[in-house]
Amino acid sequence: MVAEIISVGTELLLGNIVNTNAQYLAGRLAELGFDLYYQTVVGDNTEHLKGALDVAYNRAELVILTGGLGPTKDDMTKEMLAGYFGKTLVFNQEVFDNVVKHVHEFGATQITENHRKQAMVPSDSLILTNDFGTAPGCVMKYEGKIAVLLPGPPREMKPMFEQCVERFLYQLVSKVLASVCIRLKTKDEAPADRVGEAPVAMKLGELLDGENPTVATYAQEEGVLIRVTAAGPTRADAIMIARIAASNCIDRIGQDVVKQVTEQ
Ligand code: ATP
Repeated sequence: MVAEIISVGTELLLGNIVNTNAQYLAGRLAELGFDLYYQTVVGDNTEHLKGALDVAYNRAELVILTGGLGPTKDDMTKEMLAGYFGKTLVFNQEVFDNVVKHVHEFGATQITENHRKQAMVPSDSLILTNDFGTAPGCVMKYEGKIAVLLPGPPREMKPMFEQCVERFLYQLVSKVLASVCIRLKTKDEAPADRVGEAPVAMKLGELLDGENPTVATYAQEEGVLIRVTAAGPTRADAIMIARIAASNCIDRIGQDVVKQVTEQ
């Protein structure tokens, strides 16, 4: 299944914050077996977000959005997506209770209209409880399109993804990725003409052209890295495919130039 990430926030566009959410989500999606070809950053602007969604849903079935779920006026991701998916916003008492709890924990006593806005959730959607903040997340489906909305702060977004979203995403994909990484000795530790990226790539030959598994080389200061990545219906299947290909790679380059083999 093809996925995309849309990170919402003018702060991101201005370079005020680094988009660590996209980095984190991209890694998790790859591990879960989704194909990810594009990531988008868009400011807090309804029209621009709509444009980004139109483009994304032309290319992908699943879009994960972070940011813009807060209580202020510029936070419009939830409202925008609800409209886009033809849903209305409905008051959710459980979410409101969670908002009130967090407001009190924060030391504030007054519940404002903004806090009620947090408790308005898209109808007919899966609500994702936020244990570390006031903005709930949600999953919406409409005509084969799926949207996952998560709050911007990483300390809220990551636990929500791990506790609620991952389980949901597992059901969507039938494949899982696993990698075997082969770290080679540096040119100071072994002959340069055996451990440089170019001679290694020559020896790996057509193994570098495969689709499952994929084999890629990376020239790094700590020695060339060969990453073998395989997809399978379970992690056990994927890792088995990757191990066999990694063993072929090692046969070609020679066990004596291998420093370390790790599995991911
Ligand atoms: P809030 O409840 O804080 O309003 P929100 O869902 O509206 O949450 P944003 O207002 O977009 O999220 O972002 C809040 C904060 O989260 C930002 O100031 C920033 O510190 C962090 N943040 C937002 N997006 C990202 C991102 N893509 N990567 C890293 N941090 C982010």
